[in-house]
Amino acid sequence: MTAPNAAPQPLVSRIGRFLAIHEESFAGAGISSNVYVTEHDGRYYVFDASGSPDLLSYLEAAGISRGYIAGAILTHGHYDHVTGLRSLAGLDLPVFISKSDVKLMESTVGKVGAKGFESPAGASVLESLSLTSISTPGHTPGSTCFYSEREGLLISGDTVFPGGYFGRTDLPGGSDAEMLASLERLSKLGVSMMLPGHDMPLLEGASESIRSSLEYARSLLRP
Ligand SMILES: [Zn+2]
Repeated sequence: MTAPNAAPQPLVSRIGRFLAIHEESFAGAGISSNVYVTEHDGRYYVFDASGSPDLLSYLEAAGISRGYIAGAILTHGHYDHVTGLRSLAGLDLPVFISKSDVKLMESTVGKVGAKGFESPAGASVLESLSLTSISTPGHTPGSTCFYSEREGLLISGDTVFPGGYFGRTDLPGGSDAEMLASLERLSKLGVSMMLPGHDMPLLEGASESIRSSLEYARSLLRP
């Protein structure tokens, strides 16, 4: 147990150009996601916002100063990935999320000025980070993965996890058929590193793991 007002001690690791803050860092807040941060032109972009309303103090403890945070990019709208947006609200940042998950996000954090990925703004931010967004519905309607072909790197949210696992489809908006199609899409990519929404990042051989997830999903889900 951590005392509520103890200084945050995030569990941080570096994976390529990403700083990973492990979900257990936020254990005091209940269920949380991993958070990944990368930098472009001296400004930081935060992928997923954890389940902690105090995300900003964890970011600052990890060396990310509030004045240098340029935006938040979300894999989907579940509360354990978006609650930390509350602590960023005063920074008036752009928040990028698939339009299909905006309402889900707002059910936890209210209006946060989401820009939506389809907008040119969202696309240009991802382009500046050398990432492409891949729509991967199934866990939620707006679930999105982020991919760098050059680095073989996939930010996979709650769509696919290491160890041959995949995201649950039994929550509102989930779909077995869409999850199967999304895993098929991801299984065709060349991926070595997987940065999942939960669990430990996978540093090599992620394509093989994604194909195992697809096989496992085919055995469990109804198309
Ligand atoms: Zn989720």
